[in-house]
This record gives sequence, structure tokens and C-alpha cells, in this order.
Amino acid sequence: MTNRDVIVIGAGAAGLAATARLLADGFDTICLEAADRIGGRAHTDGTIFGQPFDMGARWLHNGPVNPFIGIGKSLGLDMYLMPYHGHTKGDDPYGTKLWAEADRFSTRLRSAADAGQDIPAATLFTDTDPWSKTAAMMTALLMGRDLHEVSTADWGVGTVEENWFCREGFGAVVARHGAEVPVSLNTRVSVISYKNGGVRIDTDKGSLSARAVIVTVSQGVLAAGNIRFDPALDNDRLQALDGVTMGRYNHVALQFPPATIPVKDDAWVTYPVRDMQDGSFQGGAFHCNIGGTGMCSFEHAGAFADALEAEGEQTAIGFALDRLVDVFGTGIRKTFVNGHATQWGRNPFTCGAYSGALPGQAHLRTSLRRPHTEHIHFAGEAMHPDEPATVSGAHKEGLRAAQEVSRLLS
Ligand SMILES: Cc1cc2nc3c(=O)[nH]c(=O)nc-3n(C[C@H](O)[C@H](O)[C@H](O)COP(=O)(O)OP(=O)(O)OC[C@H]3O[C@@H](n4cnc5c(N)ncnc54)[C@H](O)[C@@H]3O)c2cc1C
Repeated sequence: MTNRDVIVIGAGAAGLAATARLLADGFDTICLEAADRIGGRAHTDGTIFGQPFDMGARWLHNGPVNPFIGIGKSLGLDMYLMPYHGHTKGDDPYGTKLWAEADRFSTRLRSAADAGQDIPAATLFTDTDPWSKTAAMMTALLMGRDLHEVSTADWGVGTVEENWFCREGFGAVVARHGAEVPVSLNTRVSVISYKNGGVRIDTDKGSLSARAVIVTVSQGVLAAGNIRFDPALDNDRLQALDGVTMGRYNHVALQFPPATIPVKDDAWVTYPVRDMQDGSFQGGAFHCNIGGTGMCSFEHAGAFADALEAEGEQTAIGFALDRLVDVFGTGIRKTFVNGHATQWGRNPFTCGAYSGALPGQAHLRTSLRRPHTEHIHFAGEAMHPDEPATVSGAHKEGLRAAQEVSRLLS
């Protein structure tokens, strides 16, 4: 633990990009990471199922502007365009009614966003069709929160067109790309203080100082006060942390032998969801036969994700398996091999899944980018103006902050 020009806090997509860029610019830089691995919320596990499974990010959104597609290809990884295969239970096996209903809801959201309205998405929901709730739930999945917490303006900035997958996992792309970046793992930062033109960082492995710092931890970690700042964060930032909060989104992984679930590879499988008393959706959707394997993932968000986390992993696996049995019949239960449920809400190093603005608060994202004193800078997914809540947005924000710090120190 020696003193540096720049210390980057957090080795997710933003922190890895920032560290690599500053080193390339000639600054003595190290990245401090609380966890025992790099990648943050982009993490592919290869141990639980003996094959890759993305615990966090899986979709490489916005193909034409997503640098990780080219990065993955240059690393020799198997990158492929997402196929659009749908399957739904009941009277609409090809999902025609569901997607028509989803388009209707998106059109209403788009009109509000384009008109500059920052209102709860829930106010635009009309329950006109048996598939309305399931269609609207897809917006909740995308935003990681229930419709009354979705800002139409915030929904309007993020686009997720032309999705790609990596057969080895999105987390694997990020980890392999960042493998050479110098990171001190298992190093949790607790205090960042600015004094006499320099910054002091206290960690559970000791203290060190730097000319500048880039903080890339999630909004959830900052809002929880897990890192203390001296001087304390100003009111504008605290207000932004109240307005741009962490969404909740989890995967329940279900492993079957390949070709058990009778749909095409990477099919999106839906069933009619119900809602809970508070208007949140009690259900989710499935990504099945991921990359041609027998892995399926039950995707769910918002208060329902909180509820399943609280009930524990076995309940979450049981719920997901029961819903898949509802769609494909009891025969698949016998072939079920293994399951796992993510718990991003309880992860102390993320405190949630990804950022989203509450209704009326979308304008606050811009204040998150502002440095705290001249020498403490921020980066991460929450700050990207067009690609918030994505890995590519985090990467680009890391590069943006590195450039600012580079200019400051030159
Ligand atoms: C379930 C889920 C699904 C998702 N799906 C997608 C998707 O399909 N496509 C997509 O593009 N994005 C998706 N995302 C969002 C995407 O993963 C994030 O936007 C992105 O990875 C965030 O990168 P980051 O560098 O900003 O933050 P992080 O990845 O959170 O990196 C911050 C790092 O800081 C570390 N840290 C925290 N506290 C401390 C401390 N005190 N001291 C030192 N280090 C600390 C953390 O351990 C972490 O490694 C998903 C996220 C989740 C959780």
C-alpha cells in the first residue's frame, strides 16, 4: 500500500476502464476493490453449474455503441446477436398479443418522455387486455423497479436496442478485458478525506494517499453511507442520491439437461403474471436454454425481488421452478438438476442492482457526475446520460472520469 497519483475505488466496468486509461496516460494508479474478484455487477460464475452463468449483467445492449462486443471478439470469445424467440403460456403461444400490448405501453411511455413529462409510469398503465400486466412487467424488469417508481423521463433516456450475448458470459468479457489492470482485492475503503491538496484513503488494510481519487461504487453503497467522506457530501449530492436510487433485479438460475425445455435457444418465455396488493408484479419471465445450454433464468424485479430475497434462496428457486412447470408441464420437474438465486439487494458491495430515477427526479442524474472538491471524482453506470444502468455506460463513464483527472493532474 504505497502512495499514488490516482486511486480508483471499485473494480467494476467503470473502475477497470478508469485505471487502465490513467496508467496508459502515465499516472501511477491503483484500483482498490472490496470483493475478492474484479467485475462488480458484471460477473460470470463457472463453479455452481460447471458452466458459465451470468449472476449480474447478461445482455450486451445497444450493439452499435457497445464497446464490449468488439472487446469480446478480440479476446476470441463467442459473441452473438440475440435471437428473438418468444414463447408464452396459454392462448398466445407466440407472444403476439403480449408484444402488441407491450408496444402499446411503450408508445404511451415514449409520448410522455418525448413531451418532457417526468411522471410515474404507473399512471400510464391501463389494464385493457389479459396480457397487459405481463407486458407492463417487462418495463418493470428493464428498470429494476415497480411502475410507480419508474420515471417516464428516466425510461426515455435509456435505449436497449440490438442486444448481443456472449456464450462464455458477459462477466467473462469484463473480467478478461480487465485481467491485467492492477487491483488490490479484498480492500474495502471506509473513509475518503481531502486535506491540503491531497486525498487520504482509509481501508481495512491501512491508509494511503493520492493526488486524486475516482469513486466508482454504486449509488446504493454511497446512499448507505458505507464510505464516509470528509468533508461530508454536499446537499446537492445527497438529494441526488435520494432521487436516483438502486433498482432491484435478480436471476433465479435453473439447470436442466440440454434440450429439456421445448423452446429454441435463448427463448424469452412468459406467462400471465398477477399483481400484489401494492400494485407490484408478482412474477417474472424466463430466459431459457441460454446459449444453447440447459440453463434457464427466471428474471424478476422490484418489490417482488425484495420479497423473494427476504424469503431466501430455496423459496426463490421453488417459485421459479413451479412457474416453469406451469408453462411446460410437470415432466420437466424430474429433470431439474440444480438452482441458484442471486441476492443483489443484500450484497453490501452493491446494495441493489442498478440505478433508476424516481418520478420527478430524472434531472438529478447530472449532479452525480460533479466532483466533490476538485480531487474526488465519481464514475459508474448511474452517471451515463444515454446508457445508464448498463455495463457499457459504466465503462464509458470510467473513461470520462479518467480523462478529467488526467487533465487535472497534467
Ligand atoms: C442482476 C443484474 C442484471 C443486470 N443486467 C444487465 C444487462 O443485462 N446488461 C447491462 O449492460 N447491464 C446490466 N446490469 C447492470 C450492470 O451490471 C451495471 O450497470 C454495471 O456492471 C455497473 O458497473 P460499475 O462499474 O458502475 O459498478 P460496479 O460493477 O458495482 O463496480 C463497483 C465496484 O466497487 C466495489 N466496492 C463497493 N464498495 C466498496 C468499498 N467500500 N471499497 C472498495 N470497493 C468497493 C464493488 O465490489 C464493485 O466491484 C445488471 C445488473 C444486475 C445486478
